[in-house]
Amino acid sequence: MTSSDIADVVVLGDGLVGLSCARAVAARGHSCVLVGRHRIGAASGAAAGLIAPTVDPARGAALAFTVAARDRYASFLDELRGATGHDVPLALDGILRLPKDERDVRAMAGDDTAASRWLSSDDVAALEPALLAPFGARFHPRDARVDNRRLLQALNAAIALADLPRVEADAVRLEMADVHATVELDSGRRIRTAHVVVATGAWAPYLNGLPRPLPVRPLRGQMMALATPTHLPHPLTRPVFGHGGYLVPRPLEQQVLVGSTSETVGFTTGTTDAALAGFRRLAGRLVPALARADEARSWSGFRPMTLDGLPIIGLDPEAPALVYACGHSRNGILLAPLTGDVVAALISGDPPSHDLTPFSPSRFVPQTRALS
Ligand SMILES: Cc1cc2nc3c(=O)[nH]c(=O)nc-3n(C[C@H](O)[C@H](O)[C@H](O)COP(=O)(O)OP(=O)(O)OC[C@H]3O[C@@H](n4cnc5c(N)ncnc54)[C@H](O)[C@@H]3O)c2cc1C
Repeated sequence: MTSSDIADVVVLGDGLVGLSCARAVAARGHSCVLVGRHRIGAASGAAAGLIAPTVDPARGAALAFTVAARDRYASFLDELRGATGHDVPLALDGILRLPKDERDVRAMAGDDTAASRWLSSDDVAALEPALLAPFGARFHPRDARVDNRRLLQALNAAIALADLPRVEADAVRLEMADVHATVELDSGRRIRTAHVVVATGAWAPYLNGLPRPLPVRPLRGQMMALATPTHLPHPLTRPVFGHGGYLVPRPLEQQVLVGSTSETVGFTTGTTDAALAGFRRLAGRLVPALARADEARSWSGFRPMTLDGLPIIGLDPEAPALVYACGHSRNGILLAPLTGDVVAALISGDPPSHDLTPFSPSRFVPQTRALS
């Protein structure tokens, strides 16, 4: 056994959640090995980058965590910039949500709150002149968007600059003992560790040796990027939800992202003509200037969905060497930085900064038994 085969912490998974956990754990002085092998359909590069805890809000402690995750973003990116020089775009301009029709207006207009307020169609036009919003819109002024692909690059650079050992391999098996764990890789290599963090996205349930079933399923999301028309290089400033989908501006690439589908198709990758045609119709309905925009690219990815849409974060109650950081469902971009913080606190034996009860690994036991 060499020294690289023993570490305080082994993080499994090289998406935004695994990278954030590895960075936070190493920042607390633990020796850490990151094990990951990219798969087609990994979610972190496929996502739209919406930081939207108040658009379809969770409740109670879960809502408090998602809002704190949003508010953690700016300082997290400052830290990354300081460490790597990478400047990851974060736009804190808010997010708009459009009603379908007048009946929907009655349901959505409601009272203004600290999280959102109703805007008339004139107010919307002042914010987003190219957007067609005849009925007005709900505005979530503190929600945001981040460029998740640039964030992945910055986090990978941070891991490299910190000299954090990294193994490009598949973790195939865990062996749990009282106070340590052993991770076996597909090469046959074994790494012994005090803590192993499972951050393998939609693939989390497939690790052999987990002490409990993980009800995480892949939910395919297709996306399309439209090249913005040359006469209108920035047709949108902020993301817009409406008519069953959303648009997200990516001004640096001169693109607007259009998404997304939610499909139970296992791990089948790819896009469909029907979905892409639907995205075109959606884009043209929301921003008519995009109706004939060229497609720049299209792709799909797998959301790691749990039964309640909330992540699984915490120590395994029967095997505390095992830490879960998976099942981030539709909000893994939003939640990755704060997930890293709380996982590092748990591993250090510190009380986490937030109530993690809604994310407990044992909350699914009755449902899981009922399903089997
Ligand atoms: C189309 C789409 C749009 C989305 N939009 C948003 C959004 O706007 N905002 C938001 O907050 N969230 C969004 N999400 C959800 C978000 O992308 C995910 O919740 C998040 O990226 C999950 O990150 P992760 O690191 O857990 O998983 P992933 O990014 O999937 O990374 C897991 C990594 O682990 C690797 N791996 C798996 N198994 C093993 C193994 N056994 N050994 C080694 N490596 C392994 C995989 O190959 C992969 O590289 C979206 C998702 C999709 C698909």
